[in-house]
Amino acid sequence: MSANQQSIRNPDPPVQDSVFKQFRLDGRTVIITGGAGGIGYEVARGLAEAGANLALWYHSSTQADQLAGKIAKDFGVKVATYKVDVSDYSAVEAAVSKTVQDFGRLDVMIANAGIPSKAGGLDDRLEDWTKVRAIDFDGAYYCLRAAGLVFRKQGHGVGIATASMSGHAANVPQEQTCYNACKAGVIHLAKSLSVEWAKWGGRVNSVSPGYINTAISGDCPFEMKEAWFGLTPMKRDADPRELKGIYLYLASDASSYTTGADFVIDGGYTAR
Ligand code: NAD
Repeated sequence: MSANQQSIRNPDPPVQDSVFKQFRLDGRTVIITGGAGGIGYEVARGLAEAGANLALWYHSSTQADQLAGKIAKDFGVKVATYKVDVSDYSAVEAAVSKTVQDFGRLDVMIANAGIPSKAGGLDDRLEDWTKVRAIDFDGAYYCLRAAGLVFRKQGHGVGIATASMSGHAANVPQEQTCYNACKAGVIHLAKSLSVEWAKWGGRVNSVSPGYINTAISGDCPFEMKEAWFGLTPMKRDADPRELKGIYLYLASDASSYTTGADFVIDGGYTAR
């Protein structure tokens, strides 16, 4: 076989005959940021049900240990909690190292933490822009970078970033320029990293949720929710459990040929 033929040879993809086995995560370690609530917590439960051990990263929750204990009990997996501010790279790097030390391996990083904001309007303070960007955009990069350095050494690893439908369309009725721009950036961050990571066997994708019933959207005034539902073909928001499937697909070998893709889960909002 020539050197050229060798370089395009299929390097033994992790294919299983059983589709159910493709979705299993037994013994793998997954970090999920924003893991003590909302989308992060439900996704964590989904991955634990598929056998993953979990490093639940949280920021301000007072219930993280209790929630971690419940997941461990319900699914018989190892779950540990880490208090981490994702906008602080040295904290992220230290928490990745500690996770690898505690679990002995790292297979998946889910950069999910984020805050909503209307920052970015002409009358808004520049400091608000900087704060939102530091969490919603820099934070996603910091998590993927710190995990990516571990993944590259071992020659495999999966990154998943939570973006938003707001990264595809300027979300109305509330103006949220900084959030929209950061989430568009997160989609392209995952795409760009996927090209680099493919060289050594890593994959990166993003998920763009629409209106999901969590603290972020749940606290909005009723009139705003009503307007959102009116703009959503399915005329409702989603339960965060409706996102478990896409994260499990992306975290597992079921998606072994999927990289650089963004998955919009928005009840049809951006299709309209
Ligand atoms: P949530 O408020 O329950 O979760 C956000 C999490 O991010 C919280 O656990 C919070 O503690 C954490 N966080 C905030 N600042 C942090 C920091 N500096 N360091 C570490 N963690 C920090 O809301 P959610 O809806 O579960 O949001 C999860 C992700 O989904 C976010 O990135 C959000 O932008 C995105 N999203 C949500 C919706 C929605 O409608 N709920 C829609 C699209 C995208």
